[in-house]
Amino acid sequence: MEQIFPENWAFIFFGLIFSITCAQMLVVYVLSDSSNPPAGLGLYTVYFMAALLAWIALTLQQGASIPMTVDVSAVASILTSYILFMAAGQRAGITRGRMLLGIICLFVCLSVFFLPPQRMFVVRTSAAALFFAGVGLLCAWRGWQQRNIGDAIIACAALIMVVGIPAALYQLQGNANYPKAQAIAFGVHSCAYSLVAIGFLASVLIEYQQHLSHLATEDPLTRLLNRRGLEGALHVSLAQASRQGLPTAAIMVDIDHFKKVNDSFGHETGDQVIRQVAHILRHMTRTSDVVARTGGEEYLLVLPSTSLDAARTLAERIRLAIGERPLLVDHQRIPVTVSLGVASVIGEVDMDELSQEADRAMYLAKRGGRNRVASVENNPVHLSATTDQT
Ligand code: GH3
Ligand code: MG
Ligand code: MG
Repeated sequence: MEQIFPENWAFIFFGLIFSITCAQMLVVYVLSDSSNPPAGLGLYTVYFMAALLAWIALTLQQGASIPMTVDVSAVASILTSYILFMAAGQRAGITRGRMLLGIICLFVCLSVFFLPPQRMFVVRTSAAALFFAGVGLLCAWRGWQQRNIGDAIIACAALIMVVGIPAALYQLQGNANYPKAQAIAFGVHSCAYSLVAIGFLASVLIEYQQHLSHLATEDPLTRLLNRRGLEGALHVSLAQASRQGLPTAAIMVDIDHFKKVNDSFGHETGDQVIRQVAHILRHMTRTSDVVARTGGEEYLLVLPSTSLDAARTLAERIRLAIGERPLLVDHQRIPVTVSLGVASVIGEVDMDELSQEADRAMYLAKRGGRNRVASVENNPVHLSATTDQT
């Protein structure tokens, strides 16, 4: 049978690594251009570039048997493992341990000049396994926090290194089998690298997908829900209200004469005002209440299990909290007042109807002079049939 792998198999292996890295770089290039590039993208890019250079050095050393005075691949594997640790830290938002592992990395890199090859092999693989252990912890934590399987894949890569490197070093015990130890370490590191590449790709794609689904339900300026998100968030509590005959209230809030704010202070400041009002509303409501931005300077609050009277009291407190003193935006004092409309319904809720009622009440407040609360009774008035026989 014809030999599948020629003598210089290292070139084939390099081809594989090269294609994985190129695909990776292409994705990285596309994502870096987006308005919301993923965290850690810069350091991961450095990692993939450095790893590619390391594979080139190794291929030249192994495949073409080019003699190198310094063990370039050893230095590269230490450096890339440390860069990966930093990248994982940046992505997870944790910078702890950078300094300590950085000093270890420096010493291990320098030891290439005075340690014999076998000793160097032990030191560099142990250091790489240590850095990967850090990567594993960071990625496992992030994967758990963000519910992102991509980070979990990188954590698996780290686990392979942490288990595989001691297995390679074990070959040096007793009847030391250095070539076998090298082969195992090489195989383990290659697997880990491929898994990191796949994991990172999966991680950023999942994050991007999560970002898109947030955009569909969230208002980017205030981070409140938008109208679509509001319906999703109320699904359970509205079903409960319908089953148990509980009241549900809605408050429509609209900033008074907001056009003047924009005209006098600029659109940017107007945006800040919208954000600050959103913050006050979120702050003054319960966690079970849902606050949404339903228009430019309009917000809708939906309060499950809340009567009309209780909602009216809350609306009055909100009106006072916003209107009592000017908002401070970029050292400018901006007087802001709001008009609020309150409506309530008992039992089954038609969200469109309830918000229209609240809207209608809000316009009554506007017509009544602004900076006030108005409410409409949504409960049907039951009149007993008159039986007067006159
Ligand atoms: P009223 O008291 O009757 O509510 O008067 P108003 O000026 O607040 O209401 P109107 O609906 O006439 O104007 C709303 C303004 O809000 C117009 C629009 O330029 C501004 N606006 C809408 N969305 C945004 C936004 O996202 N940022 C900023 N800065 N302004 C916005
Ligand atoms: Mg307005
Ligand atoms: Mg308006």
